[in-house]
Amino acid sequence: MGNRAYNFNAGPAALPLEVLQRAQEEFVDFKGIGMSIMEISHRSSEYEQVHNETQALLKRIFGIPDGYQILFLTGGASSQFSMIPMNFLKAGKVGSYVLTGAWAEKAVQEAALFGEVALAASSKEQKFMKIPALSEINLDPNSAYLHITSNETIEGAQFQSFPDTGNIPLIGDMSSDILSRPVDVSKFSMIYAGAQKNLGPSGVTVAIIKDDLLVDLPKTIPTMMRYETHSKNNSLYNTPPAYSIYMVNLVLKWIEEQGGLTVIEKNNIEKSGLIYSAIDSSNGFYRGPVDLGSRSNMNITFRLQDEELEKKFIKETEGQGFVGLKGHRSVGGLRASTYNAVPYASCKALAEFMTDFQQRNS
Ligand code: PLP
Repeated sequence: MGNRAYNFNAGPAALPLEVLQRAQEEFVDFKGIGMSIMEISHRSSEYEQVHNETQALLKRIFGIPDGYQILFLTGGASSQFSMIPMNFLKAGKVGSYVLTGAWAEKAVQEAALFGEVALAASSKEQKFMKIPALSEINLDPNSAYLHITSNETIEGAQFQSFPDTGNIPLIGDMSSDILSRPVDVSKFSMIYAGAQKNLGPSGVTVAIIKDDLLVDLPKTIPTMMRYETHSKNNSLYNTPPAYSIYMVNLVLKWIEEQGGLTVIEKNNIEKSGLIYSAIDSSNGFYRGPVDLGSRSNMNITFRLQDEELEKKFIKETEGQGFVGLKGHRSVGGLRASTYNAVPYASCKALAEFMTDFQQRNS
């Protein structure tokens, strides 16, 4: 398709073209039922088949062991920032967090509304340009859980490996890197992600929760905020975001067609490698502020020598079919988000543009 943009948006983000085309084919008449999947009851067998198949696909692709629930929630990953302490931060316990960037900070702030919070590690003094080493994580033994943000979307820093927390449940916000690489899910008691980067469109938040985290939860919190409500009703207590879940279903099938997460990870390393090489071989024209060992494969942040040149870079890229390269408004600079669905050709085009821009401006 000739008129597709080079889409480097941070989220909502690029979807695979094949997925959009498949959805387009089925948009008006889903599998011959004479209606769109959006127009049918969430209690119908046609919808339930999609719902349950999506869970089964995620379980298989992500290697989720038995003993975990896969929930489809609403309210974005942001609602999880409060649902987690509401459900799991019991009186007398501490909610522990690794503070790695803007999204972890939001999770911490929300938890502090509900109980005592401790920072097990923080890279705030390094302006979040480095993920703390696992050996720097100092976990209070009285923790109800340890929460980490596996990939900081705004700063562009990513955990390369995950802490062992023993009996203390590990909870991961994987909103911006879920399914970008294989993960040992069994290390986590909970993983959650807003869908709108690697999973599908916005509207659904996936939460993968170990059964033993779901026992003995408070009954005094609002029904929709209780994980138990959703786990006991297979995420069908109320009307689920059916169309978003259907799109996640198509994205998961696409991931399987690519060869699964090992292939996806290899592709992602190659794609981000093209852009990181353009930065690293630029003799300082481009500057990657994130520590080498914490660089994200999903969100590549970089700077030019001043803001004027950055503005010029953005303006020129926009004229050449590139979208979404402006850094987050809170940190400025430039950011290329190279999620699963961003094609190799887009990354190659960007790397070439960067080299050309450098030659013309240095
Ligand atoms: N956590 C991370 C790591 C994110 O990147 C985002 C959104 O970009 C969120 C949480 C918030 O997600 P939502 O907009 O679904 O609430």
